[in-house]
Amino acid sequence: MKAFEYANPTTEKDAVTALRVDGRIALPLAGGMDLIARMKDYVTSPDRIVNVKNALDTTIAALPGGGLKIGAGVKIVDLVENAQVAKLYPAVVAAAGEVGTPQIRNAGTVGGNINQRPRCWYFRQEEFNCYKKGGNRCFSPAGENQYHAIFGNEGPSHIVHPSSLAVPFVAYSATFRVVGPNGERTVAASDFFTMPTLQNVRKENVLADDEILTHVMLPAPGNVRTGHYEVRYKESHDWPLALTMNGNTIQSARVVLGAVAPIPWRSADAEQALVGKPLNEATAIAAGEAAVRAAKPLSRNVYKVQITKTAVKRAIMQIAGLKPVQLRA
Ligand SMILES: Cc1cc2nc3c(=O)[nH]c(=O)nc-3n(C[C@H](O)[C@H](O)[C@H](O)COP(=O)(O)OP(=O)(O)OC[C@H]3O[C@@H](n4cnc5c(N)ncnc54)[C@H](O)[C@@H]3O)c2cc1C
Ligand code: SF4
Repeated sequence: MKAFEYANPTTEKDAVTALRVDGRIALPLAGGMDLIARMKDYVTSPDRIVNVKNALDTTIAALPGGGLKIGAGVKIVDLVENAQVAKLYPAVVAAAGEVGTPQIRNAGTVGGNINQRPRCWYFRQEEFNCYKKGGNRCFSPAGENQYHAIFGNEGPSHIVHPSSLAVPFVAYSATFRVVGPNGERTVAASDFFTMPTLQNVRKENVLADDEILTHVMLPAPGNVRTGHYEVRYKESHDWPLALTMNGNTIQSARVVLGAVAPIPWRSADAEQALVGKPLNEATAIAAGEAAVRAAKPLSRNVYKVQITKTAVKRAIMQIAGLKPVQLRA
């Protein structure tokens, strides 16, 4: 591992200051489940790491008027075990409970999970200098693209967004508090994650290099009913998808898919297929069909289209109480 400077700030302001290194690379370190692994594999070689664990809020607090404010320093395990989160935002707890392994949930934080880098195996190997590492090509279109995107495949990168928590946060219309050298700002979760372009392909979100994510604000859920349906490629761990709806007869719907696109993917087609319809199996089937209408799979991931269709259908049926959640792909 390359030698690096280490900063240990205790306030958000000092953390941001420590991230300013004039042309060199400084990165925040939270639980280290992603960053340390990338450093060990020579995928990321920062000049300075800034431990943000002592600078970030580690609490979950009620917001005036309803809703919850979750500190970016909250560990994933504490999110899973929080009674208020479970009561108000069950899809968050369902997604958090499936993150990685118990060890990863014990060390990993909300902020680190949202900001983790892609799992693409070319990205994770030192030898492949793809767009995301400053190279001039993507290896996935002609390569092993089984786990890559089926939506938003215009390129130049074809990753799927890796954060399980990002999906329900987008579905619940969360906002993120961000702190940087010019103070703080809030960004809607749905605007935080960015599609790859040649100009920004080395990033997955709107954070500047000297900004940190400090909080996730979840609005009061009202009469929202949620479903969350996860499909696993392997027995141990993989990435989920989530669905949020309003009402019994469907008044409005948010269908957000994980693991299918470079960002948590909102399916407008599925949402349109749901609104104004009764919550039953026929509606669930129609929404599943609609969800994959715009899919553009790569050479080796056509199977994901069927999985997505089935997962959307089953998430809706789960909300309707029509079938037990059981699927192993
Ligand atoms: C075997 C395995 C299975 C996994 N399965 C899943 C899964 O099913 N679902 C899932 O979502 N994840 C999964 N992960 C990823 C894991 O959840 C993340 O690595 C972990 O949540 C990251 O949290 P952390 O606090 O350890 O982040 P760190 O490793 O400390 O940081 C991750 C990245 O975010 C940046 N960062 C950290 N905190 C902040 C902040 N507050 N503001 C701005 N940037 C920040 C860091 O610079 C770094 O680049 C898996 C990982 C492994 C190894
Ligand atoms: S999909 Fe993205 S991360 Fe993977 S090889 Fe292509 S450019 Fe790199």
